[in-house]
Amino acid sequence: MTAAARTTKRDALIAVCTLARSRAAGACAWCGEDLPPRRRSWCSDRCGDAFWANHWWSVARRAAKRRDRYCCKRCGAAPPKRPVLSAYATRAKYLAAMRAWRKVKRTTRLEVNHIVPCRGKHAALDCAHHLDNLETLCPPCHKTHTAALVIRRVARTAFQTARSESRPAKSVRLSR
Ligand SMILES: [Zn+2]
Ligand SMILES: [Zn+2]
Ligand SMILES: [Zn+2]
Repeated sequence: MTAAARTTKRDALIAVCTLARSRAAGACAWCGEDLPPRRRSWCSDRCGDAFWANHWWSVARRAAKRRDRYCCKRCGAAPPKRPVLSAYATRAKYLAAMRAWRKVKRTTRLEVNHIVPCRGKHAALDCAHHLDNLETLCPPCHKTHTAALVIRRVARTAFQTARSESRPAKSVRLSR
């Protein structure tokens, strides 16, 4: 994306974003305050950062983990901390601890979930990445959540199919 295309996309998004204040000429695109001299989009770095932290996935994901204090929002699990060299008597012991840490990291690394599914918009500037739509989860909790979503979707599809058939489908009974 070129800088110009990115700016256009950004302005279109801000126009419909529920978090941004309505934008007048010469006002900050995020908070709506007057722009200080030499500022063109944001009144401060804070406003620019807040925009990106709520709309650009890689920034939003990092911000969500920080907000959730690097632990799972559902079960509280936190991945083990990276070993610090100074905590080990010998370099060999440190390296062994690093190896063990790398191994568990693969299965305990925190993930960030969209509460309302973002449907493949990870690469786009989008309001689906608002921080209040994100939660930090451990891999098992994320898997449970995703599986429940799939089951709900399958049930909904089956229900709609049953309803759309001309004769009443007595055999299909679904609990909500
Ligand atoms: Zn501002
Ligand atoms: Zn968890
Ligand atoms: Zn937004």
